[in-house]
Amino acid sequence: MPKLEGSCYCGNITVRVETDTPASDMTPRACDCDFCSAHGAEWVSTPHAHLEIEIQNEAATNLYAQGSESARFWICAQCGVVPAVTCDMGDFRKGAVNKRAMLDRAAFKATQPASPKNLPKEEKRQRWDKFWIDRVTVKDCWDVGL
Ligand SMILES: [Zn+2]
Repeated sequence: MPKLEGSCYCGNITVRVETDTPASDMTPRACDCDFCSAHGAEWVSTPHAHLEIEIQNEAATNLYAQGSESARFWICAQCGVVPAVTCDMGDFRKGAVNKRAMLDRAAFKATQPASPKNLPKEEKRQRWDKFWIDRVTVKDCWDVGL
């Protein structure tokens, strides 16, 4: 399966998306919440895919809770880039990646605005359940269970 790859600026957090959907079929979403606006994040995901997040230095990885406290943003504390967001739903961890941190960012479709911030928590989660990558795994050097 083709892989889309990206990382934070310093290489501490690497993201790899395995999917049959080409980047040219994916529309990034620019969420208008204050957090995403401040970072200029543009989120891409496709449901049937596998996202692997690889961490080099866990001590420099900040999991910031946002979006009614149910989404976690993977922020590199060394360079400040946010390559991924995840949400734990029952036994599954779903996620999306930040187009801005992807190597081939020019390959995606034009970014569309999205405004989930006014949705109640349950509707936000339903939305993520539908659009986000349906399998997320985390690979880290120390395996302390991020
Ligand atoms: Zn970094």
